[in-house]
Amino acid sequence: MKSLMEGYERFREGYWREHAATFSTLAREGQSPPAMVIACADSRVTPEIIFDCAPGEIFVVRNVANLVPPYAPDTGNHGTSAALEFAVTALEVRSIVVLGHSGCGGIRALVQSTPGEGKDFIASWMKIAEPARCLVCDAPNAPLDEPARCAACELASIRVSLENLMTFPWIASRVTSRQLTLAGLHFDVETGLLKEVD
Ligand SMILES: [Zn+2]
Repeated sequence: MKSLMEGYERFREGYWREHAATFSTLAREGQSPPAMVIACADSRVTPEIIFDCAPGEIFVVRNVANLVPPYAPDTGNHGTSAALEFAVTALEVRSIVVLGHSGCGGIRALVQSTPGEGKDFIASWMKIAEPARCLVCDAPNAPLDEPARCAACELASIRVSLENLMTFPWIASRVTSRQLTLAGLHFDVETGLLKEVD
């Protein structure tokens, strides 16, 4: 906590002073970010830094393993789906990016299918990416070593999330009418390289 508050002091003296006018405009006029980014909660993968964005430029939701669940309008606590609904129907973002990354702990847990670990919430959350795990790990030519399986699963799970995005009716209709574009990206934490997932 102490280091966080020290960081805040630096922010207040530095970044805030330099960008006070931007914050003031954003406070007065509200936000209208052109893009939404769904990223992992992993502390090494910070969308605002990776895309060099200022406040107000991207609407970000972060969760374990940057997953998008399928459309399920029920009474569950759908934090990611609620953020999507707000970004698409209220803010009218023009693009949604699913940002995956190398060395994702959530994906590694899924690939390892570690029994008992994270059984309160993580295991059921990671079931969203189960089709990706099946595709990679149950394939006849599945990579034998775990890092390769995880890397392939990171890419496959981004594709699953992109497919799930299209199950939201207000996303699918906007994609069809070209008001909205979807993209998948994978960030390599070690090299800093960003790769598009087709
Ligand atoms: Zn991750």
